[in-house]
Amino acid sequence: MLEKVVIANRGEIALRILRACRELGIKTVAVHSTADEDLMHVRLADESVCIGPASAQLSYLNIPAIISAAEITDAVGIHPGYGFLAENADFAEQVEQSGFTFIGPKADTIRLMGDKVSAIASMKKAGVPCVPGSDGPLGNNEKENIAMAKRIGYPVIIKAAGGGGGRGMRVVRQESELIKAIELTKAEAGSAFNNDMVYMEKFLENPRHIEIQVLADSHGNAIYLGERDCSMQRRHQKVVEEAPAPGISEQMRRHIGERCVQACKEIGYRGAGTFEFLYEKGEFFFIEMNTRVQVEHPVTELITGVDIIKEQLRIASNQPLSFKQEDIKLNGHSIECRINAEDPDTFIPSPGVIQRYHAPGGPGIRIDSHIYATYKVPPYYDSMIGKLITHGETREVAIARMQMALEEIVIDGIKTNIPLQKRILADANFQKGGTNIHYLEQHMFAEKE
Ligand code: ADP
Repeated sequence: MLEKVVIANRGEIALRILRACRELGIKTVAVHSTADEDLMHVRLADESVCIGPASAQLSYLNIPAIISAAEITDAVGIHPGYGFLAENADFAEQVEQSGFTFIGPKADTIRLMGDKVSAIASMKKAGVPCVPGSDGPLGNNEKENIAMAKRIGYPVIIKAAGGGGGRGMRVVRQESELIKAIELTKAEAGSAFNNDMVYMEKFLENPRHIEIQVLADSHGNAIYLGERDCSMQRRHQKVVEEAPAPGISEQMRRHIGERCVQACKEIGYRGAGTFEFLYEKGEFFFIEMNTRVQVEHPVTELITGVDIIKEQLRIASNQPLSFKQEDIKLNGHSIECRINAEDPDTFIPSPGVIQRYHAPGGPGIRIDSHIYATYKVPPYYDSMIGKLITHGETREVAIARMQMALEEIVIDGIKTNIPLQKRILADANFQKGGTNIHYLEQHMFAEKE
């Protein structure tokens, strides 16, 4: 097992990684910016190193500073968490070249999946269903592009191969808009992602977002841990996630899960990963793979009993997976609400001091959060300050427990999105299950925006 690990992240995920390390007897090094000295995991870590000023560019994205921190503390591994450098292939490569273990897939795999055109090509090869589209980058031949869109059928979506975070895509509803849209998306992609390659997909009108969690070790074993439904989104940002996805049968789960496992084997995947799909009219369409742990991993942990972060650490230590596919039995239902420091109506971030904090409790309640009373939420980073996760024998029980927990939790001093989460949990269509990716924006605050 790795002896000492640098946690190259902040906030709740840094604390989550620290806890997993503790359970496995791994020593921890927290690296933090000058604005983050008071983070909970910095206090709890065996050692801590300040790697730069508040600006993430100069600290959490500062590759030489992070590798130096590993060097001076004699750490052996680096866990990137999510966001920041987690899907940066150059970082993974430099970590390995400096003699440390990157806790994630190989740099080449990150590179392959980070380019959506090459990701889709390798998924198709492995038999994973993809959205009908251009099967490669768009060229400059206008006639060919027009013919292609016609063949795919409007509406289509033009997407940047290097895009991420919901940026770099444009929906086209009629032929007269196509050429202009391709040019604009190319220009934007060139300046935003340093890569002006774009491709075309059929635009699905009312899909759900359903994703498959996988784990793969360096001995050729790979398993899927069922699916999550993350359709409740605002501006492509997930707000509520759950597992399993309402209405997905065991047979469908097995079918798509086995395709993902096959793909892992074909690309030599290692570590935890997620295959993201759009799901419409009973069909799955691959859109991208995340080569890291995700914010919403706890809902899968609660229904499978697998500790995904501990598995990441074991895999990085070259151990085989602790589970076989037949060991994975889904138990009950789990829901996660992201708690953000933001105005629940305007979504404007609300940093500041948390005056009072009271955590909810009782059966089936889990909180992954670094906050405490007197903690000051800095203005420099993502506004998510924690995740409230519930588990119950049925979806109804998980919802009832979430509603109780949202009533019990007290976070005073800053604004949070808890009022929005209460509205979502009380919504009749959410309670029915299976709402699509536009539901939150179209039906839950249409009147406010
Ligand atoms: P990113 O890497 O920026 O998150 P994705 O490819 O995962 O990009 O797409 C983000 C979101 O954009 C999806 O969750 C979905 O809401 C929307 N989207 C992407 N492709 C399509 C498509 N073909 N049809 C409909 N919506 C799409």
